[in-house]
Amino acid sequence: MYRMIKYLTLIILFLINVTIPASLDGKNNTILSDDEQKDTFLAKSLTDNSDLNDGPYLFIHDDNLIEKTVVNGEIKTRTLDLQSKKIDFKPEKAIYKNVEQIAALSDLHGQYELTIKILKNNGIIDDDLKWNFGKGHLVVVGDVFDRGDKVTEILWFLFNLEKEAKESGGKLHYLMGNHEYMVLRNDLRYIDEKYQKISKLIDTPYNELYNNQTILGRWLRSKPTVIKINDDLFVHAGISKKFSTELSNLDSVNQFFRKYLDTKKSKGKTKLDKRKRKYFGGKGPVWFRGYFNDSLNDPQVSGILNKLKVNHIIVGHTSQKEILPLYSNKIIAVDSSIKYGEYGELLLIDNGSYYRCTMDGVKSIIEEAGSHKK
Ligand code: ZN
Repeated sequence: MYRMIKYLTLIILFLINVTIPASLDGKNNTILSDDEQKDTFLAKSLTDNSDLNDGPYLFIHDDNLIEKTVVNGEIKTRTLDLQSKKIDFKPEKAIYKNVEQIAALSDLHGQYELTIKILKNNGIIDDDLKWNFGKGHLVVVGDVFDRGDKVTEILWFLFNLEKEAKESGGKLHYLMGNHEYMVLRNDLRYIDEKYQKISKLIDTPYNELYNNQTILGRWLRSKPTVIKINDDLFVHAGISKKFSTELSNLDSVNQFFRKYLDTKKSKGKTKLDKRKRKYFGGKGPVWFRGYFNDSLNDPQVSGILNKLKVNHIIVGHTSQKEILPLYSNKIIAVDSSIKYGEYGELLLIDNGSYYRCTMDGVKSIIEEAGSHKK
């Protein structure tokens, strides 16, 4: 009997010990069964976000900015002054003249480290990742988004580099590619798993992280789809013969993309519906693959160039092993498969001469200044 009382007292003391601290801090003190504990552990490992880091995402409100950054799987939120950041971005113009040096690369697809390596080894940025290209123009020929998991890092890097370029009298051009339009228009088939987690964590659909009430969303909406620098046209995928008739005014082409970017895709038959499909669709400037599938011969390509009054068209979108001149250099392909994260190149135009530049900074000539064949 005595032993039984002692035993019961011990049990009671033990229970008090277990429950008191739990009830003191107000936590639910339900004791889980083994199975429940196992389930909780499993659920936790499936949703374990502790290695998740991303951002910042900056949301523009009427009176302030809300900044959300994901640090080790947790959202850190800050409220900032509306005046503390640039929140309006002028639409970028389409035509630039008398530019002595131009560098171009494309289809970065979230490969931040490789992008940095290529730019650094070719002197476009310095060891501190700052602009080092003087009055030169750097053209990112679209597709920063999708596939890789360091999209946000590249976006902010380019965002800052643009400012530095301007301060040096240079310029960074970020052209819209099909993957920019896909994400902004809520086609999320190619986003990395990381961004599905981020979107869930911030409780915002991924495309809404770049809507017109965000800083990066507004910045992207100021970007062009086609530009002309000196006598060359830069566009993500290419210009078909059919689309070339639209290009008598490049600024209005870019304006059309900006105007209808946030409208729904439509299967309608009005003139406007058809025009929207011509721009955003599979044969438009951000999807066209006609320079790569033998559907055009040399005189046809010359015809397009003559119509556009340019000497070269520089395109990304269709992946190659290296910078690849086609049609006697009239078309220069600059998607050098950076998307795989292993290798990539840069096109350099220096006072009218065209060079392929490897990721280690080795230059080889594509075309000497003044030797262009029309
Ligand atoms: Zn593309």
